[in-house]
Amino acid sequence: MDRYVSLNKFNTFGLNVTASFYCTITDASEIFELIKESVFKNERKLILGGGSNVLFLDDFYNGLVIHIENKGKTLLRETAHNVYFRVAAGESWSDFVDEMVQCGYGGVENLSFIPGTVGAAPIQNIGAYGTELKDIFYQLTAIDLITGEKVFFNKEECEFGYRTSVFKTRLRDRYLITHVDFKLNKHPEININYAALNQFLYNKGIVNPTVKDISNAVIEIRKSKLPDPSVLGNAGSFFKNPVIHNLLFQNLQQEFPDIIGHKESNDFTKISAAWLIEKTNWKGKRVGNAGFHDKQALVLVNHGNATGRELFHVAMLAKQAVIENFSIELDMEVNIA
Ligand SMILES: Cc1cc2nc3c(=O)[nH]c(=O)nc-3n(C[C@H](O)[C@H](O)[C@H](O)COP(=O)(O)OP(=O)(O)OC[C@H]3O[C@@H](n4cnc5c(N)ncnc54)[C@H](O)[C@@H]3O)c2cc1C
Repeated sequence: MDRYVSLNKFNTFGLNVTASFYCTITDASEIFELIKESVFKNERKLILGGGSNVLFLDDFYNGLVIHIENKGKTLLRETAHNVYFRVAAGESWSDFVDEMVQCGYGGVENLSFIPGTVGAAPIQNIGAYGTELKDIFYQLTAIDLITGEKVFFNKEECEFGYRTSVFKTRLRDRYLITHVDFKLNKHPEININYAALNQFLYNKGIVNPTVKDISNAVIEIRKSKLPDPSVLGNAGSFFKNPVIHNLLFQNLQQEFPDIIGHKESNDFTKISAAWLIEKTNWKGKRVGNAGFHDKQALVLVNHGNATGRELFHVAMLAKQAVIENFSIELDMEVNIA
């Protein structure tokens, strides 16, 4: 257990935060010892992966940061159609995707180049370009931080939804995920339903894309749109796209014919939070060193030495503007610590 450790390199907003207690988990078995320690029992706790979806409000995290760094990948079994892999929570998500793509296994290619760890991926059911983690998820292994029990969660038990799971809702902070099992396809079914991806491949003249083509396309699109956190601190989309009732959507459409929405179910439509932020003039706007990105309105960025509170303040100003203009309340995608 270390004291007063800088988390500057461990959060993609690049905030200068110090943790009063800090430890790393390099092997899942270490958790059983950790939970017996008095610091674990008495202090506030944060499980940290790559820190790409966390906003620290203060410069000092008064508690214990448990940094997940266990590594390893195992092929569990193989059938005529599928391969099942168990991947340690501390592995890089992006490296795992690259490895699967190189092998020609299908299912993860649309999720290329998302920062962070494998263990954090189920927390918000990461998603991009028409695919979500749940589409290739098989089960996960976790440790109950109250009882110390090792438990498995299947897909249903994870209660995956749009950028959410049971670990973000009723079981928040209760479990530490140690491994995630994936089911990948040996005969990939390509998913190019997402308009921007489809258009990109069309422009490149790629007619029958392979998983490698999809992965390359996704990486190129992402690099052109999203700021690199090592250059401009950010945590990707700060807010979720709100899902609203069709009646409200139709009302908004009459007033704003260019509003962007996609049918979510029979009664509900998911609308673009980036569009809402742009319409309230927050795209590219900054207050001091905190602001919203000029190419992607949904990305809150640290232009320099903004504090966590300054970033949060700007996010709340944009949220308030959206409420006042559209009567829609944006939910945060990023976790506040
Ligand atoms: C440039 C950029 C682009 C992004 N694009 C996308 C995108 O397209 N789609 C998308 O869904 N997300 C995106 N994100 C958000 C982020 O990459 C994902 O949410 C990612 O899964 C976070 O992983 P992490 O390891 O960094 O998690 P952290 O930020 O370290 O943690 C996130 C949350 O998970 C918890 N947690 C982490 N590991 C564990 C564990 N092992 N057990 C239990 N709890 C844990 C933490 O306590 C915290 O609440 C983007 C972020 C950036 C910076």
